[in-house]
Amino acid sequence: MRAVDIIIKKRDNLTLTDDEINYFIRGLTEGSIPDYQVSAWLMAILLNGMSDEETTSLTLAMARSGEVLDLTHIAPIVVDKHSTGGVGDKTTLVVGPIVAACGLPVGKMSGRGLGFSGGTLDKLESIPGFRVDLSKTEFLDQLEKHGIVIAGQSADLAPADGMLYALRDVTGTVPSIPLIASSVMSKKIAAGAHAIVLDVKVGNGAFMKEIPQANTLAGQMVAIGNLSGRKVRAVISDMNQPLGMAVGNAVELIEAVKTLKGEAPADFKEHCLMITSQMLLLGEKAPDLDAARKLAEKKLTDGSSWHKFREWIQVQGGNVDYIDHPEKIPVAPFRLEVRSPQSGYLAQVHAQQIGETAVELGAGRIKKSDPIDLSVGVIVKVKVGDFVEKETVMFEVLAQNETAALNAAARLQRALVWTDEKIKPLPLFYEVVG
Ligand code: URA
Repeated sequence: MRAVDIIIKKRDNLTLTDDEINYFIRGLTEGSIPDYQVSAWLMAILLNGMSDEETTSLTLAMARSGEVLDLTHIAPIVVDKHSTGGVGDKTTLVVGPIVAACGLPVGKMSGRGLGFSGGTLDKLESIPGFRVDLSKTEFLDQLEKHGIVIAGQSADLAPADGMLYALRDVTGTVPSIPLIASSVMSKKIAAGAHAIVLDVKVGNGAFMKEIPQANTLAGQMVAIGNLSGRKVRAVISDMNQPLGMAVGNAVELIEAVKTLKGEAPADFKEHCLMITSQMLLLGEKAPDLDAARKLAEKKLTDGSSWHKFREWIQVQGGNVDYIDHPEKIPVAPFRLEVRSPQSGYLAQVHAQQIGETAVELGAGRIKKSDPIDLSVGVIVKVKVGDFVEKETVMFEVLAQNETAALNAAARLQRALVWTDEKIKPLPLFYEVVG
């Protein structure tokens, strides 16, 4: 078999066999297939798609590129959640500790920023010392002793996803249903959780722009999960405007810390409670969604989720002084307020444009090897449906210098659409699949 023939076959829109997909993923993982061939193959998949059978083969090949953990000896049910990627989506940082504080273990493998969407691992690395590269033994030990672990792909766990993910980020090959489904589900299968809640984002700041696409992606992931014996539920949630207020890395970490301490933007809190409730329900910690939500609210307000977060950060090497005093987390030195040029209702606060503004400030990668600037970002103070008076501060830009801040400010103004008509706020959720 030759990699080039497999690329040609997909380029010509033919169906790949299980053997061909396994050969390609093995070659990628062992380093015998170079990045340029992998990139060409990814583009052929993005353009021509994959059948359900090919997507399942790809997912399993990626999951088996490292070890597949069995967590049954740790707890009867370990849960996980995963977002398909959005702007301002720091949900894992809050939901993980709430669920763990409810006594349900959370074992999770997260990703880095992808295109205009942020990544949990990058956000966590804003805490000095925090380690995401855990070995299998460390992952299991921490889950058993502390009931929460969130790590990145390693040589042990789904390494093929880490490699594909880094290439997709910089080759325009992110928004593909088979590539997203296999990326998400390979990590979920490798990390071994028994029950998984998928947060499938839809809207201009998501990779799926329309609800039918998001439904297809959700359905495929639920089917792959069920095939590998996991309980899976997908929540389709809005991503036409950023979630919460902070977009960046350090700024999102700070918002998550504040949320756990009781100071949350309303939409973000509501989103976290919904995802948490679904996890508690799948994890059999509550008989119905109402009871799950009450439990989650209690654990958020009584401080136990904050304590669980602190324990988790400490055990994964993070310096807790920075989360006890989030003002110590380094943020970029140049702060610019962006004010409203007029009064009116906001009909659009375009999430993708805001995400791209943050990437341009340095919060995301343009090339695979690019370092990212954890300290830059945007604080978004307006939502669709708000009536905004002239001269109100709508955004705060955190940049390395004045030029970068001014460019970002101009771009942010273009992310807004104004109207004189009263506008309804956007919903947070559309439906639940599975
Ligand atoms: N999250 C992932 O883990 N993979 C994707 O492809 C998109 C979002």
